[in-house]
Amino acid sequence: MGLFTRDIKSLEDLFNHALKDIYYAEHQILKTLPKLIDKASDPQLKKDLKQHLKETEGQVTRLDQVFEMLGEEPKGTRCPAIDGILSEGDSILGEVEGRSVTGAAIVFAAQAVEHYEITRYGSLIAWATEMGREDVVRKLEANLREEKAADRKLTEVAEARLNKNADKRATTRRTARARPTPRRVAKRKAAPKRRSA
Ligand code: FE
Ligand code: ZN
Ligand code: FE
Repeated sequence: MGLFTRDIKSLEDLFNHALKDIYYAEHQILKTLPKLIDKASDPQLKKDLKQHLKETEGQVTRLDQVFEMLGEEPKGTRCPAIDGILSEGDSILGEVEGRSVTGAAIVFAAQAVEHYEITRYGSLIAWATEMGREDVVRKLEANLREEKAADRKLTEVAEARLNKNADKRATTRRTARARPTPRRVAKRKAAPKRRSA
């Protein structure tokens, strides 16, 4: 990213910048996923992350092909957005104590990454479409499909198990759900009627 130069003058320039961003990001993700795989104890989560690591290797290959289609050398540029997302995930996982919460925390960190990638591929696909590069669009769409599938699987495993594992009150709540708790009743009484301004 050039802070003091203004070298993005066209849609092609913008596309090239974004392509280098995601190229850098995919490489950083390749380095991070093995750490998440190590920390994951849920077998399904571990399996999904391993599969996505494999897919990510393939995504880098597709990006190499996109650079080639455009007659450019594959090259990344440091993207502060993905750096921030990865370092936040790293620090949260460093603060988590105990296996039961770790799964939910991994999904929290990993979904931020998938959503970042989904926005980036979304923009890249729109711009490549505008530029009339259907060949490039097809490669990017293949990557986007994998990011969306990875995101969906993370939601599934979190909602099926990991969030409940992390919630120590889940078993108590299951038996107490039938009647309203005193706290809930008190809250209902205390809440003033809302008025719009
Ligand atoms: Fe990716
Ligand atoms: Zn950037
Ligand atoms: Fe991904």
